[in-house]
Amino acid sequence: MRTEVLGADDTHESPTVAAIGAIHGDEPCGARAIERFLATGLQDRLQRPIKLIIANERALAASSRYVEVDLNRSFPGDAESDLYEERLAHRLWSEIKGCVTLGFHSTVSFDSPFGTFADPTFLKSRIMRALPIEHAADFSAVAQGRSVNLPRFVNVEAGYQQSEAAAETAYECLLAYLRAMGALPDSANQTSTMHYLVQTVIEKSEKQDYTICAENFQRVAPGEVYATTGQGQTLTADKEFWPVLMSADGHDVLLGYQADQLGEISQTIPEWLLLNGRARHLCTLCR
Ligand SMILES: [Zn+2]
Repeated sequence: MRTEVLGADDTHESPTVAAIGAIHGDEPCGARAIERFLATGLQDRLQRPIKLIIANERALAASSRYVEVDLNRSFPGDAESDLYEERLAHRLWSEIKGCVTLGFHSTVSFDSPFGTFADPTFLKSRIMRALPIEHAADFSAVAQGRSVNLPRFVNVEAGYQQSEAAAETAYECLLAYLRAMGALPDSANQTSTMHYLVQTVIEKSEKQDYTICAENFQRVAPGEVYATTGQGQTLTADKEFWPVLMSADGHDVLLGYQADQLGEISQTIPEWLLLNGRARHLCTLCR
């Protein structure tokens, strides 16, 4: 694991803003965005200290998702584990405790970038709206032990794995995130982002070849066929849903997820909560 602490000369504060690339070694977009940031001289403009972390260097060098076990399924980790990624998860979690963190990923399912998070807070909503993304998938109902379950942690899926476009998008997302966190001086550009609540895992059989008929984040109507198999099976929606991370060959036993579209994220996760019928702004910790 490589950690770069930047912008700390004047304040001597420990950074509370972090970004992580190469959580998965076959998704180099985040590591490339960090390397590009380090090469630009933009660090001289930082207004608060930040940490940039390239997490799984061994898997990145091997261009494989992980070496022994999936790092993103290993949080909070175990310092005494026999497994490399479980020890790494423990070190990584120790490094970002107390930080707001953006993790970078890429997919085999969708070329447009989108955000992922769990346990909604106004801070996470604000980061999602600051990133150049149209969709944000909320995994609160289905994810456990993943980076999205850590406090103040959000991810961006920057595009197709290993693509130039994903590396470019990851860099744009890194700059937008640093602006949103007040680490870069330019004002954050808050844009409309749709909030989807991921509800159901769509399983697949390893014995079948699948063809996907639906588009990620595009509504599938009740009765609509969203996938077929080479063995003559059709998968039909029994109720409307919006596909997330749906792909024929992204995973051995997982075709994707069914999500509900909740609405624009500034409406679904507002800055205030209704308490006893009166609007109250959330305190800093609740955000
Ligand atoms: Zn990933």
